[in-house]
Amino acid sequence: MNKIIIAIDGYSATGKSTLAKGLSKKLNYIYIDSGAMYRSIALYALKNNLTHPHINRPTLIQSLKTLDIQFVFNPATYSSETLLNGENIEKDIRTPLVSDVVSKISSIKEIRQFLVEKQKEYGKNRGIVMDGRDIGTNVFPDAELKVFVITDMDIRVKRRLDELHSKGIYVTEEEVKKNLEERDDMDIHRKENPLVQAKDAIVIDTTDLDKEQQLEYALKLIDDLKLLKDH
Ligand code: C5P
Repeated sequence: MNKIIIAIDGYSATGKSTLAKGLSKKLNYIYIDSGAMYRSIALYALKNNLTHPHINRPTLIQSLKTLDIQFVFNPATYSSETLLNGENIEKDIRTPLVSDVVSKISSIKEIRQFLVEKQKEYGKNRGIVMDGRDIGTNVFPDAELKVFVITDMDIRVKRRLDELHSKGIYVTEEEVKKNLEERDDMDIHRKENPLVQAKDAIVIDTTDLDKEQQLEYALKLIDDLKLLKDH
């Protein structure tokens, strides 16, 4: 059977990664969380005092060549975890501290170029599901399936709060909402590869869909569009 590229874009906390993981498991494809790559660089910048009072762009850009970002599969959780220079940073990159700076980091042209090149490399044999903000528009403009995920803000806040609480990270509803709104705004308005729906993307509104229904919907799309049939 032919292998395809599935690009899943959308705002933060809309359920992109849940859908992407579900699809990758079902199709036995690689799953890459491109947001985790930007978060890794944000964590590095925080740890090396390169964010305060402003992002120290020259030093951060200089450091890129020393950063090795990898994903390892954890069979126990059936998910991939992020390593930075060999250290497992999966938990550290999900903290509010990282969420607060990541969109500033991701707006830097050189950082995007550095990560987009790696992301393209992951897809060279196809058979991949990648989620992010510019996957269908910039990383894989030739993806066979492009999905743009949207969800009501209240549901996004609730989902992100539940996710953080399940990890033992306690923040208020207001803090989560403020962070999501700020990141949306920065992601939409940045100059380099802003978050925008690809013309050929199919919108999935996950407001009233649980994760099984989202997955079922996407699998039906793949089937209806006959994307996995050899021509
Ligand atoms: O997906 P997640 O919320 O973890 O992404 C964190 C941040 O990384 C986003 O708010 C965005 O600023 C940035 N990002 C990006 N392009 C991508 C993926 C994520 O700019 N392809």
